[in-house]
Amino acid sequence: MPFTPFHLGFGVFVFSVLIFLDPIALLLGTILIDIEAFMRLILNINPLHGILHSMLGVIVFFIPTVLMSWGCYKIFKLEKYLRKFNWGISIVSSLIGLFSHVFFDSIIYPEVMMFYPFSNKSGILLGAISERMDYYLLVILFSAGTIILGIRFVVKRYRNRKEKGNQLVDQSTQKN
Ligand SMILES: [Zn+2]
Repeated sequence: MPFTPFHLGFGVFVFSVLIFLDPIALLLGTILIDIEAFMRLILNINPLHGILHSMLGVIVFFIPTVLMSWGCYKIFKLEKYLRKFNWGISIVSSLIGLFSHVFFDSIIYPEVMMFYPFSNKSGILLGAISERMDYYLLVILFSAGTIILGIRFVVKRYRNRKEKGNQLVDQSTQKN
């Protein structure tokens, strides 16, 4: 918060490279932890990042993230477009997304206790790169991920067409 959507960039990039992951759990994971920041903003509690911006948040949010992804797969019949839903893969995807959120926030917010409840230490990665670089990095990852996904889509369509063409040729030679 207030740049929650930037976190999606990491999810888009990871999915573009590791295409077998569950993109819904991954993307939801990258943003869901900010429910905490949103609630604290509404309730006027400072700082915005509390104990859920940590490993605890990852543990608390991974089950709802996976269940929401499963719901999306069922409601929108996503298996027509994506790989079959797999609980194990969805759990891994949500953990990657959730942890990435804590990781990128811990670079710019001093109050983030990355490993809470295992450690109370805050600001472990603070200033590793500048705030602006943190956002640039997420934008670059988003752009790279979108380009890779675009290339994957075009290549897949080309292959499908080629396969269909070959099948037609096979059928016509069989008839002859
Ligand atoms: Zn956050």
